[in-house]
Amino acid sequence: AELWQDVPLAPPDSIFQLTAAYKADTFPQKVNLGVGAYRDDNNKPWILPVVKKATSILLNDETLDHEYLPITGLADFTSAAAKLILGADSPAIKEGRTVSVQTISGTGANHLGALFLSRFYKFNGTPKVYLSNPTWANHHAIFRNVGIEPVDYAYYDPKTIGLDLNGFIEALNNAPERSVFLLHACAHNPTGVDPTQEQWKEIAKVIAAKKHYSFFDCAYQGFASGDLDKDAWAVRYFVAQGLPLLVCQSFAKNAGLYGERVGALHVVSADQETANRVKSQLSVLQRSEISNPPSHGARLVSLILNNPELFEEWKRDIQTMAGRIIEMRKELHRLLTEELHTPGNWDHIVNQIGMFSFTGISPKQSKELVEKSHVYLTGNGRISMAGLNSKNIRYFASELDKVVQ
Ligand code: PLP
Repeated sequence: AELWQDVPLAPPDSIFQLTAAYKADTFPQKVNLGVGAYRDDNNKPWILPVVKKATSILLNDETLDHEYLPITGLADFTSAAAKLILGADSPAIKEGRTVSVQTISGTGANHLGALFLSRFYKFNGTPKVYLSNPTWANHHAIFRNVGIEPVDYAYYDPKTIGLDLNGFIEALNNAPERSVFLLHACAHNPTGVDPTQEQWKEIAKVIAAKKHYSFFDCAYQGFASGDLDKDAWAVRYFVAQGLPLLVCQSFAKNAGLYGERVGALHVVSADQETANRVKSQLSVLQRSEISNPPSHGARLVSLILNNPELFEEWKRDIQTMAGRIIEMRKELHRLLTEELHTPGNWDHIVNQIGMFSFTGISPKQSKELVEKSHVYLTGNGRISMAGLNSKNIRYFASELDKVVQ
């Protein structure tokens, strides 16, 4: 018998499929709102000017070679990355109790964090992780891959197209003590709905009372508000409260380094001695998985984070991206409410944050947009704001209006 005859055919990745359909479409006004990557006003990928500059510095650096990085990655990169998310004056860094490991972007950080938990976290019975409903689809697969069962917690309220804070708090209260909760640090994917600072404080209070573990995923620092510190607020607040946590960090979006796979996992521990033991085990896990992380992207980000001039330039580039997205939110809101008088309340478009927005339209309406309007979006009504620009936003608004009318 043929060796692989029992291997079932897996369904194609739905986003991948959507992109393929968009590419094959010959309609001139087609719009791709499925894309999870930044596009400029001409719908083109954007190489950040600061990344261009850093690339040319690296190219001319005669001291660099292609030797292996250490198992835990480029130390200048991981230490600067920790300061970026936790804050330069973070007690967790000063006290030497933060372990930082370079990973294969945010996905790799999620995987390594999940793998570490699967080996060493003292679960109450079956290993489980609580994931927001909905969440980035890959979270389910990443945790399942290491034998941790995903469980949903209430997060999004379709009635308000906003946060279901009561449901969230109830889930935190109902979960057994020391449960693991995955939290989106900012710019929640796919909804664009983030807790306010006051709401985060309420969430943190219950997490502390129930001794839960916070597994932060931070894929969009700077991308939400345009301000790196503001977007790190929740993580820093949790650290200040002394809550046990780890953070998965990606530089795919905020540095436009998608394909370079630059990321880090930061585990904040109780003390330095614990951190050393955690680090030793993360090194063992990393060794068997990838041996050593890739060097190029880490060198680029290290240069940008450690050089004050480049760092300032990067912050401006981030504002360019976040600013354009915020502009698109405002313009879409204006078109729907003031020009088209589309039925319903569209305030969520401007209240949501980051690359993605839950429009609140039904799967049927989403399908109609794809099939009749050549506007490509996922069935859950999520749109990528980065796919909108000054040339296509009017067309999109009027097509959206049509399916809603
Ligand atoms: N986590 C979330 C919530 C994301 O949306 C993404 C990317 O879409 C990632 C993690 C990881 O992305 P990457 O592996 O490209 O850094």
